[in-house]
Amino acid sequence: MERILVVGGGIAGTATALALHKAGFDVVVHEAHPDTAEDIGAFLTLASNGMRALAQLGASDAVTSIGFPLRSLRLLDDRGSEVAHAPMGEADDALLRYRCLRRGALNAALQAEAVRRGIGIVHGARLVSFENGPHQVSARFADGSVATGALLIGADGVNSTLRRSIAPGVEPVSAGQRVFYGYTRGASVAEETGHITMVRGSNASFGYAVSPDRETYWFARVATEALPTEEPAASGPSRRREQLVALLRADATPAADIVAAATDGIMATNATEIPPGTPWHSGRTLIIGDAAHAASPATGQGASMALEDAVILAKSLRDAPDAERAFALYEACRRPRVEHNITVSGQISRGTRTPPRTGSAPSPRRTGDDALIAQLDWDSDLRAVSGEGGSGATAADRSAPRP
Ligand SMILES: Cc1cc2nc3c(=O)[nH]c(=O)nc-3n(C[C@H](O)[C@H](O)[C@H](O)COP(=O)(O)OP(=O)(O)OC[C@H]3O[C@@H](n4cnc5c(N)ncnc54)[C@H](O)[C@@H]3O)c2cc1C
Repeated sequence: MERILVVGGGIAGTATALALHKAGFDVVVHEAHPDTAEDIGAFLTLASNGMRALAQLGASDAVTSIGFPLRSLRLLDDRGSEVAHAPMGEADDALLRYRCLRRGALNAALQAEAVRRGIGIVHGARLVSFENGPHQVSARFADGSVATGALLIGADGVNSTLRRSIAPGVEPVSAGQRVFYGYTRGASVAEETGHITMVRGSNASFGYAVSPDRETYWFARVATEALPTEEPAASGPSRRREQLVALLRADATPAADIVAAATDGIMATNATEIPPGTPWHSGRTLIIGDAAHAASPATGQGASMALEDAVILAKSLRDAPDAERAFALYEACRRPRVEHNITVSGQISRGTRTPPRTGSAPSPRRTGDDALIAQLDWDSDLRAVSGEGGSGATAADRSAPRP
């Protein structure tokens, strides 16, 4: 069996390895970080569509054992008055309801699940270049080592090295916001755990959720020019807190007090996106996840889209007759959906679109997107359910991999 190389052991790369392994491929992940603890501070929410993708990989348990569930969304105006409170996504299904997790914990859980299934993960392997050949592709790493495989899947994030070769000149662009996030223990908020509260403030969009052990996970999105990633010392955590609290004090909401009492350092990042239309593949190499279609965080869908990518890519390679047609099938299924997310999320970040009142995401059930549910269903033939024509064979019939 020919090997598929995955570069990047984040959410997209590790989930893709789980999916390819489930489809019967030999897969190895090469991750730049020496361990699993990257970006341990940040958190995210997985939406019902992402949880559905995980369920198709049989990986729900690995993820529901960490973080905490979110069943509903409250919306507050700038006076702190509740203007809406509604269920989010598939709140009644324990496996599919939204989940709030620390990103490092999610990465570690997915990687542990991959290792448990016998998938190789090479840490400390930073890809520097690759070469597409007629029958195989070679990946070269910073330590001088080289790996070869039938295909190379680039899941190396928004600053992807692979994308720079596949789509020269394409760089992430600012979506016009800076995102701050942190944790506050013992915040003076009355909320129960189990829902996320979004505050439409006059200077910032603020969101928070209280964990079962009373830790408040919060973020603020503030309209601003993109700032350098490496901030000078004067803009360090305490200055950051001061500036943010001053912005949030303009409103009578719980936001300013939550940030003022933040327990640890406050993290900050620019909201960036990859322009729609970016090429995704070249020869035997394809980029997925944030490398291909990072969106601003406003819809909170990046990780869920990465999990969908994993299932659809593995099914494409399982169901199409060869790699070229598999990549075309994958792109036909994925591009409209992920680029819609980039557009909607970018419009919310730039203030030209109002976010929806229930959930932040195009959850399949809510939008009635039966086509997506059919595509994610592991047992369906992706060609048949995507209108590309299929044999009607069962998943078991199609288990022989042929990249
Ligand atoms: C502030 C903020 C908030 C967010 N909130 C949410 C949210 O609530 N919900 C949500 O769904 N999404 C959210 N997202 C988006 C989400 O984090 C990303 O969409 C998701 O992490 C993408 O996963 P990925 O695996 O494609 O990329 P990454 O998570 O970036 O993983 C890329 C991996 O590749 C590795 N790598 C990089 N370069 C190389 C190389 N040359 N060689 C080998 N390995 C390499 C990295 O070390 C990393 O492990 C948010 C993003 C931001 C910035």
